[in-house]
Amino acid sequence: MISQSVVEALRRIVGPENVILEESLLEAYSLDAFGRYRGMEQQGSLPPRVHAAVRPSSTSKVAEVVKLAHRERIPLVPYGGGTGIAGAVTPLQGGIAVDLKKMNRIVALNSEDRAATVEAGVLLGDLDEALKGEGLMLGHDPYSVPIATLGGAISTNGVGYRAAKYGSMGEQVLGLEVVLPTGEVLQTRAVPKSSAGPSLHHLFIGSEGVFGIITQATIRIFRLPEARVFKTVAFAKFEDGFHALQEMSSLGLRPALVDLTEEPPGPPDGPPEGSSTPSETRMYLVFEGYAEEVEAQLARTLKVCHASRGEDIGPAPTRQYWDTRHDSAYRYKERFIDRSVREWPTEEWPRRTGYPHVAIPASQVLEYRHRCYEIASRQHLWVRECSLWTQPELFSMMLVDVSLEGQGEEGTLAQAVDEMLTLAQDMGGSMEYVHGVGVKLAHLLPRELGTGMDVLRRLKTTLDPHNIMNPGKLAL
Ligand SMILES: Cc1cc2nc3c(=O)[nH]c(=O)nc-3n(C[C@H](O)[C@H](O)[C@H](O)COP(=O)(O)OP(=O)(O)OC[C@H]3O[C@@H](n4cnc5c(N)ncnc54)[C@H](O)[C@@H]3O)c2cc1C
Repeated sequence: MISQSVVEALRRIVGPENVILEESLLEAYSLDAFGRYRGMEQQGSLPPRVHAAVRPSSTSKVAEVVKLAHRERIPLVPYGGGTGIAGAVTPLQGGIAVDLKKMNRIVALNSEDRAATVEAGVLLGDLDEALKGEGLMLGHDPYSVPIATLGGAISTNGVGYRAAKYGSMGEQVLGLEVVLPTGEVLQTRAVPKSSAGPSLHHLFIGSEGVFGIITQATIRIFRLPEARVFKTVAFAKFEDGFHALQEMSSLGLRPALVDLTEEPPGPPDGPPEGSSTPSETRMYLVFEGYAEEVEAQLARTLKVCHASRGEDIGPAPTRQYWDTRHDSAYRYKERFIDRSVREWPTEEWPRRTGYPHVAIPASQVLEYRHRCYEIASRQHLWVRECSLWTQPELFSMMLVDVSLEGQGEEGTLAQAVDEMLTLAQDMGGSMEYVHGVGVKLAHLLPRELGTGMDVLRRLKTTLDPHNIMNPGKLAL
């Protein structure tokens, strides 16, 4: 609970219309896209709700809210689009959600600097639309472009469709403005490179709001490409596609999109047996940039793929993939965000799915894939998809618990996913490359970071002595 005097103070800071106390809205502020179908049973029970939500419209208002919370020892949860997939906005200790979406102004747009300074609550899609009008574009293009905010994307260090060429969200950040857990405002210099001490803005990239609230970011922006081509290559075996991707990477070829995906046949009536199920593997490729570059990259890529027995099956499958890439976000918006609900109704998707996304040294990828298939087979899970996205090292698997239509054993899927994640760690990789830690992966973070976990704890105690900023996240 928060006291009436705190509610009154919040109303004075952000205006009464921007303090939310309605139960149904607070419920929506307390969940993101990490539904129970993704293994929430691991957490034992439904998370508590936030006690209030506020919608500040400026950095100084955010700072006032934070100072109040620091004084009163009230937990704060920064809240962007609420589209995270790891439960990073789950209010483990209740408190106040700080919704940044009113802070959606483009402060400065400078094509000469190739940089935009933007408030953190802007939706990625809105920002990209505004840039388009100036012949520019965002380099970060996740499925969730229409529903995720810039601050959320930076705080999870997300990866999008164009990451092969433009990098992850974090790699596009030049500088940040952050309200620290004590209410002070930190501004880092917006330059592409500095060696004047350690790079402080990196402390907030991928930090899920535990070190402060990002209120403004200066990011790299890009000119709209002069040329774009689509290409699809089919491989009889995943291994052939992998070798082609490795060669492309070693040569320095940089498609905007590269996605090597294997789709083993569906059960549909039972789990597949063993790891030798026949499957189809496709490499979806988009090249964009200046015309000569696009032409040269395409020609050399096709040569490399042919040497790996790849067959050019034309642009259409990739074109279709590209044109529908944001559809899942529009569906999510319609079903959940527009209706202010976040709990995924089980009748819509009765089967539980798990989606490990690990980063692993390229030399280990094929062995890792083989061992993941063994785990899936042992646990009677259907591998619906196995893919390498943007780089040979970024490996994903979509797993479906086919035994589940109500009668499956609880926890099997979560156990299999954990086994795959710890295997990645043991093979020299990282357990997650795109969605962050949230509540979903907090139990494995100390294992991932080792001594780094103590470093994080010490940083946290120094910056946030009362542990008010998104407590419990990053296992802090
Ligand atoms: C249909 C769908 C498709 C998706 N596809 C992708 C994809 O392709 N690539 C990808 O990377 N992700 C994807 N996601 C996941 C999600 O969209 C991303 O993680 C996104 O970056 C989260 O942004 P958000 O604004 O919704 O953040 P939220 O979910 O609101 O917050 C995420 C975390 O960031 C913190 N946070 C939010 N704003 C701030 C701030 N201003 N300052 C400090 N901390 C803050 C929150 O406290 C929380 O810890 C998808 C999700 C859905 C539902």
